[in-house]
Amino acid sequence: MNFDKSKELFQKANKLIPGGVNSPVRAFGSVGGTPVFIKKAKASRLWDEDDNEYIDMVSSWGPMILGHAQEDVIKAIQNAASKSTSFGAPTQNEIVLAQAVLKKYPKAEQIRFVNSGTEATMSAIRLARAATGRDYFIKFAGNYHGHADQLLVAAGSGAITTGVPSSAGVPNDTAKTTLVANYNDLGSVEKLFLERPDEIAAIILEPVVGNMGVVEPSPEFLTGLRNLADRYSAVLIVDEVMTGFRLAAGGAIERYNIDADIVCWGKIIGGGLPVGAYGGKAKFMKQVSPVGKVYQAGTLSGNPLAMAAGIETFNQIDKQPDFYEVLEARGNRLEQGLLKAAKNSNVPITINRVGSMITVFFSEQKVVDLKTASSSDKEQFKQWFHGLLKRGIYWPASAFEAAFISYSHSEAEIDQVIAAAEQAFAEIKL
Ligand SMILES: *Cc1c(COP(=O)(O)O)cnc(C)c1O
Repeated sequence: MNFDKSKELFQKANKLIPGGVNSPVRAFGSVGGTPVFIKKAKASRLWDEDDNEYIDMVSSWGPMILGHAQEDVIKAIQNAASKSTSFGAPTQNEIVLAQAVLKKYPKAEQIRFVNSGTEATMSAIRLARAATGRDYFIKFAGNYHGHADQLLVAAGSGAITTGVPSSAGVPNDTAKTTLVANYNDLGSVEKLFLERPDEIAAIILEPVVGNMGVVEPSPEFLTGLRNLADRYSAVLIVDEVMTGFRLAAGGAIERYNIDADIVCWGKIIGGGLPVGAYGGKAKFMKQVSPVGKVYQAGTLSGNPLAMAAGIETFNQIDKQPDFYEVLEARGNRLEQGLLKAAKNSNVPITINRVGSMITVFFSEQKVVDLKTASSSDKEQFKQWFHGLLKRGIYWPASAFEAAFISYSHSEAEIDQVIAAAEQAFAEIKL
């Protein structure tokens, strides 16, 4: 495979854009080599600027659940665009998309659209703080909720239970109100509540983690969080930006029957355009401006192109009664195939998969939290990644991300991925 054009473009981009990319993971930083510059995509296939063809296992990191350039979605966007791309005024389609989302999340009563997942979680935390009159909140190590200051926080070391910035430029004082617990570890959450019984506004979590690789919650963990939130009058914020409309029509909340106070959405909700949203019980949502005192706004929020893409994406999902069964079956086929392929080459791996989200950890350890996820061998992943890339499989360029299957991935394509993966496993120098 020839990457000449991508190399040339990457050089140019590097002069103009930090690291040549507009979101860090795209730079291939942890796997090395040159990121491929994408020219176009259709269904499950990508083409780069050198005209190499790939099966896309990234799906734009989640949004493209129908596959790329789905005909009816494109038509809906074109139709909307012909009537202008933004008004900064209310439109009927905002109601249509709100209804579509709330129908899939029957416990949520109202929704507010924003422009990204980052905005959704940032606003949800502001709302939880306002609703409780408290400043602290709990997040989990290895869970990602976008790049707002207060969420770029890691666990403090040793005796310190308040968070420390995980990015330069985040004030220590901001990080201090973020408390960090361990995923699947209720004790670590309870400890934080015991230290600050009247000061914690919210718990925010990825209901299935995608951002340290796929990690599934135990049922006791989920019910335990609800109980702790109730006991200490804190708000339970479920960040469904990645899992929403992917793990079931009603996301992880439906799949695990979670009782969330506030839900955050993103990715699929905009059908590939920049949309996020937060919503939930009316007693919270009525506190949002202009009804309530929690200020939150957006010039392009509820953008007509984005609403049209979201609505048509949901139309397409709803048209296929077996939509989530197909994703589950494809996911299972990929998981079984990869396990067998790795075994044939004696590469020790663990696969975590929930529905159409899957991560291959290069480790034999069971992966349940950030610590166990970190046991994955980054060097082996790197070799495997490049083994896949050169065989035309575009897998996420990090050992700690989820790969995503779309409805447009056929069985034959899943088998192609498995065949390439088998050869890539065989090439790994252990
Ligand atoms: C992607 C993601 C976000 C951030 O969304 P952006 O649209 O990238 O700002 C937040 N939470 C989760 C769980 C995500 O996967």
